[in-house]
Parts: sequence; C-alpha cells; structure tokens
Amino acid sequence: MYFCGIEAGGTKFICAVSDQEQKIIDKVSIPTTTPEETLAQVFAFFQPYQLAAMGIGSFGPIGIDPEQENYGYVLATPKPGWKNFDFLGSVKAHYSIPIVWTTDVNAAAFGELKKGAAQGKKSCLYLTVGTGIGGGVVLDGKIFSGITHPELGHIHVKRHPADDYEGTCPYHKDCLEGLAAGPALEARTGIKGQDLPEDHLIWELQAYYIGQALMTYVLSLAPEKIVLGGGVMNQEHMLMRIRQAFVAQMANYVETPAVEDYIVRWGLPNESGIIGCLLLAEEALS
Ligand code: ADP
Ligand code: ZN
Repeated sequence: MYFCGIEAGGTKFICAVSDQEQKIIDKVSIPTTTPEETLAQVFAFFQPYQLAAMGIGSFGPIGIDPEQENYGYVLATPKPGWKNFDFLGSVKAHYSIPIVWTTDVNAAAFGELKKGAAQGKKSCLYLTVGTGIGGGVVLDGKIFSGITHPELGHIHVKRHPADDYEGTCPYHKDCLEGLAAGPALEARTGIKGQDLPEDHLIWELQAYYIGQALMTYVLSLAPEKIVLGGGVMNQEHMLMRIRQAFVAQMANYVETPAVEDYIVRWGLPNESGIIGCLLLAEEALS
C-alpha cells in the first residue's frame, strides 16, 4: 500500500510515491503542457503502484470550497488550457481513493510543519518568493481556508519612498507580487535575480516589502513560525535583511519569538510541497 502526491506547478508537475514508513520510493518531474497530456503522464507514472490515498497541491488559484461548483477546478490562470479545468474531477475519474486537494503552498506549509523548519509547532506560514509570491497557512495543525485559500502574494504594501516602479501583477500592478517577485526584480534592473550582485540597491527594497508583508501576516494570523522558500530566497543575505526589515517595521508592537528562530528558510528545500502532499495523503487515510 502506497501514498502518492502531486505537486502541480505551472512549469512542472512533481509526482511521488511513498511507503508506509513515509519514505519516498519513486519520484518524477513532468513538464506542464496541456492538462490532458500532463495528467496522462501522471497516471502512467502511478500505474505500477497500489495507491491508498493521494494529496494534490496545485498552482492556483483553485476552487477549494466543496459547496461551490468550482470545487476542484483551476481558476484564473494564464496557463493555456488550465483555466477552469476540472483538475480534481479528472483525477477522481481515475482513482477511487481518498484525495486531499489544496494549493501547492498550503501543501508546502503542511510539509514544513510536519517534517521541516516548523516541526513541533501547531501553526506556520510558508511563503515562496519565486516567479510569483504565494503563501500557505497551517493553523492548529490544519490547513487554513475560508471562502477560498489565502492569496498572500497579492496584498498591498506601503511603497518604499525610493520606489516608483509600476509593478508586474496583471491584476493589481503594485501588489506585493507585482513589486517583489522574481520577474519584478528582473524588470526593475534588467538583470535576472540570480545574477544580481549582493550589494545591489534592489535588495533593500526587496527586504522592505517582504519584511512588511511578514508583519501584516503576523498581525493578522499570528503563526508560530514563518518559513521562507522559493528561488529568490536562494540569496542567502536576504534572510538577514528581511528579518531586519521585519523587526524595524514591527517596531516592538507584537512580541514575537527571537527573529532568528521565528523567520527561517525552508527546512525541506524544493521538497516542502511534494512531501506535504504525501503527508496529506497519509493523514487522509488515518
Ligand atoms: P517557481 O516560482 O517558478 O516555482 P522559483 O522558485 O525557482 O520557481 O523562482 C524563479 C524565480 O526566482 C525567477 O524569477 C528567478 O529569476 C528567481 N531566482 C532564482 N534563483 C535566484 C537567486 N539565486 N537569486 C534571486 N532570484 C532568483
Ligand atoms: Zn496582484
């Protein structure tokens, strides 16, 4: 009996199978093309295994309210073929096993809470800063959701006085994602994030915005741990800058744990999401 997970991203799907000892025994990366083509490869990968339960963490936004007609669908994505695609329904047509359906970042938050940087906590917030900015929240051991899942990347932030960049978000222009995700870094400087020198002025803006967003999340959700991941967080110096910006902007209003313990990098680099999917599958069965 095996558990399986699908971390569905806009560029690739990571699928994995784990055994009852939570050990990953098989894993594959499949390029995201059309839904039909991509899912055909996913089903083929799982075919040899007798599956007991599945966890899916999908790029979004997605419909997560079982009471609504769009439950299980991928919603407003620019990814060709995926907008309003009944993702969960298509998977369910193949398997009659328990399937947990959530966002990629919620799965990552769950993975970090159970096996990563937030182990031992009851709540955590996971934020990825990459092609986009997205966040997942686990509160009291459960993935948090309401009428929809949180969209932590699209909050508005107070502008840095030295910043007049218009922003890249197609919906809001200068929301957090529009000002601070990887594509904004590149659009502002003409240089890809990974090639920007450590002493570039842009990092101060970047830390200002992310530190500010983290403050907003703490003020509204009060998680026990904040875990940061995503390509842009490969900049090692950013973590310290973000912590400083967070502390400066919080101005001692809320007393948090020591910032070095409180705001940390992912404990499961590049695997938080898929490990979270597998653990959600296991939890669904128990
Ligand atoms: P995705 O968000 O698509 O899953 P990533 O988390 O790798 O993928 O994010 C990709 C974005 O992160 C790109 O905009 C890229 O330029 C940026 N990026 C990747 N590595 C670095 C790095 N070392 N420093 C800064 N930015 C980076
Ligand atoms: Zn936005």
